[in-house]
Amino acid sequence: MGDIKTFGVIGAGQMGNGIAQVAAAAGLDVIMNDIKAEFVENGMAVVTKNLNRSVDKGKLSAGDKDAVLARIKPSTDIKDMAAADMVVEAATENENLKFQIFKDLDAVCAEHVILATNTSSIPIGRIAAQTSRPDKVIGMHFMNPVPVMRLVEIIRGIATSDETFQTTWDLSEKFGKTPAQANDFPGFIANRILLPMINEAVYCLYHNVGKPADIDTVMKLGMNHPMGPLALADLIGLDTCLAIMETLYNGFKDSKYRPCPLLYKYVEAGWLGRKTGRGFYEY
Ligand code: NAD
Repeated sequence: MGDIKTFGVIGAGQMGNGIAQVAAAAGLDVIMNDIKAEFVENGMAVVTKNLNRSVDKGKLSAGDKDAVLARIKPSTDIKDMAAADMVVEAATENENLKFQIFKDLDAVCAEHVILATNTSSIPIGRIAAQTSRPDKVIGMHFMNPVPVMRLVEIIRGIATSDETFQTTWDLSEKFGKTPAQANDFPGFIANRILLPMINEAVYCLYHNVGKPADIDTVMKLGMNHPMGPLALADLIGLDTCLAIMETLYNGFKDSKYRPCPLLYKYVEAGWLGRKTGRGFYEY
């Protein structure tokens, strides 16, 4: 499989630009792709802002910042991924969209290239089945915000090879992260536990058990969580939260995972959290 020198990232949104940043900071050449030039530019602007903050704090030299930025090449054509030694997809959480991306990557990338997905909840096996290389498809699930959070949940699909797993594990460590292994069941480990908790917090709001600030205060001070569940939902994006709950609900066919009706209402209204300026809180 060889060394991973050039790393492709599909999607320049909040996860994609964070992944591009940590890969470039680890010394890899990065190709960051999105559907529109302005989305890639926005992603670059976020990376620049993050790195400037590190420079201000004295954690990074101005020269190193420039070097990291110079290693990220913008792209709006998926064919650019032909130059990548490994690709991680971090596009919008939509199954059909991801299926198409994996079909395209399978056609564009050399046979040996690992195709990873940052999906929060779509089965790895189902994505892998879109390609002619299911042994080289794997989940590489970063946490938000990527430059800060240390975990990478690595999800083995039913056909994922040991070699693919080991390369992905080693690369996560090279990125300065701590990997954990999960098998391919709905929500994997992180979201199987986290999202039902967030959904329950939304039910507390829906049933008027408490106001957002009170719900979050209970969980922060009572359970020692660094963020309350509603503030965290706003950070993740309410559309992403809903998509994950639907995956759990449909995947297990168990009513205990039914998404709260209020979550649907917010998403329908375009109140997606921080990224749209309004969710359970206003930003
Ligand atoms: P986002 O909306 O911030 O970004 C998604 C980006 O994908 C957008 O810029 C969009 O234009 C782009 N995109 C859509 N179709 C594309 C295509 N065909 N080719 C290239 N780019 C395309 O979403 P996000 O929060 O960054 O989530 C991305 C993925 O990461 C999702 O699968 C999500 O489930 C997963 N994830 C999210 C979080 C989180 O906290 N937000 C955490 C872990 C994993």
